[in-house]
Amino acid sequence: MLGVVVFREVGSSTVRRPCCALYNKDDPPHWPVQVTFERYSVAAQPKPRNCAQDLLTWYDRHRRVMPWRALPGKSPAPYAVWLSEIMLQQTTVAAVKPYFMKFMARWPTVADLAAAATDDVMAAWAGLGYYARARNLHRCAQMTVSQFAGRFPGTEQELLSLPGIGPYTAAAIAAIAFDQRCVVVDGNVERVMARLHAVSEPLPRAKKKLHALAASLTPQDRSGDYAQAVMDLGATICTPKSPNCAQCPWAKFCAARKQGIAADLPRKSPKQKTITRHGVVFWALDSKKRVLLVRRPPKGLLGGMLAFPTTLWRPKKWTPSEACKAQPLKSKWTPLPGVVSHTFTHFHLELEVWVGRAVSTAKASLADATWAAVESVVNLGLPNLMQKVARHVGVQARPQAKSRVRRA
Ligand code: SF4
Repeated sequence: MLGVVVFREVGSSTVRRPCCALYNKDDPPHWPVQVTFERYSVAAQPKPRNCAQDLLTWYDRHRRVMPWRALPGKSPAPYAVWLSEIMLQQTTVAAVKPYFMKFMARWPTVADLAAAATDDVMAAWAGLGYYARARNLHRCAQMTVSQFAGRFPGTEQELLSLPGIGPYTAAAIAAIAFDQRCVVVDGNVERVMARLHAVSEPLPRAKKKLHALAASLTPQDRSGDYAQAVMDLGATICTPKSPNCAQCPWAKFCAARKQGIAADLPRKSPKQKTITRHGVVFWALDSKKRVLLVRRPPKGLLGGMLAFPTTLWRPKKWTPSEACKAQPLKSKWTPLPGVVSHTFTHFHLELEVWVGRAVSTAKASLADATWAAVESVVNLGLPNLMQKVARHVGVQARPQAKSRVRRA
């Protein structure tokens, strides 16, 4: 019988000396000192082929049904895989599904998407957040048409040359759409690897190690299915707070389960305190009950999106005279009570809302300004933050309202 023996010497300090030994419990060896010993079971070492095979068998029975996933035995559509992977960056599956369906219905091919107006793509994306992704999505569709004749390239290297496709997304598309052997590591995969191998080093320091562990298990065959299987395992069984080890196809290999530390992994370095930034947003009305909108600069937060004019967002609160310097037109401004709060990835934002009436719309000082009827403004595909501003002023969404935008 194979065991790990813990030596405990009587009458002196404890000595722990793990070793492997063959022994027969009815005929123990003659120990040089009097000892007590316990036997520990050892987790089966994760053998790449066994791990991958067990997981794929589980996946064939339990795979999640997703609108972008090919049915078993069918080839995946690269356009659907790419679109879903871009949408899923920083966003949950549940949030992405309706957007994916909407995009596929409106632009069923990459050529259709490439030919769409940027404003239409941005408006259809509104609410999904991280708007740089929408701009890159559109540019990527256009480049795929112009440089690859409308067919997505099949290698990680070529995919990386397209806008909005980083190392993770390139690996995921190459694996899932083209069945290339690529190492696909997202947060789910990191968690599963940390537990399977009981990696106690905290993230993000452990990233390289976890990637190497993921690489060591990635099979040559069915690597697209394998990538999706690990993601599914992380999303449905090896979940962040309560891993369901009893149902896990990797339970027999899992070191964290054996040690009883699964829910504690992966460890994370202490979070830095989220900073708060402040700004003033201007709700500028004209005599026709229209509100002023501007197109934000293409780079930066909410880049390229329609928005109400604001000051910069900075750590210090704005004094009235400072904020007035950023007003889009001359007006007598009245601050509304309260603030609009919104949390971005790296900071928390608090916006004061100032309401003012333009004496003459010709004075709008911003080159890229438009006016929109107040009652329809929430149907223009504004980003969530700006929807919050509209709600703060008291404008509610009307799903069927027709929107009208006219240049200032
Ligand atoms: S056994 Fe538990 S901790 Fe280990 S991989 Fe499976 S679900 Fe995660």
